[in-house]
Amino acid sequence: MYCTPPETRKARKPRRCMNCGEAIEVGTEYRRWMCVDDGKAHTNVMHPECLEDLAEAYGSGYWEYTLYSGERPNARSQATDAALSRQVACTDGLGVAVPPAPTFGEKT
Ligand SMILES: [Zn+2]
Repeated sequence: MYCTPPETRKARKPRRCMNCGEAIEVGTEYRRWMCVDDGKAHTNVMHPECLEDLAEAYGSGYWEYTLYSGERPNARSQATDAALSRQVACTDGLGVAVPPAPTFGEKT
């Protein structure tokens, strides 16, 4: 097996991290490298933090990983927070549980 050194790219279209399976959003950086195995070339894409995490766990030699079975380190809670705030923002448009606007400034 031969692998190229990972290079940093900026996503111009949505991709999926091959470690954690989460989206790599457009405009964010990701790591991309190629492996040639049995004469077949495979392209690998991962979040920078996912690749770092695996590289730390496995060392600098060649290693294999199981597709989409990894955990995304660090950024996970941030992403969850963002998803939650998006959900909260969505309920506003439904008109549910939104108190009526107080009527200040009415002259009596
Ligand atoms: Zn990832």
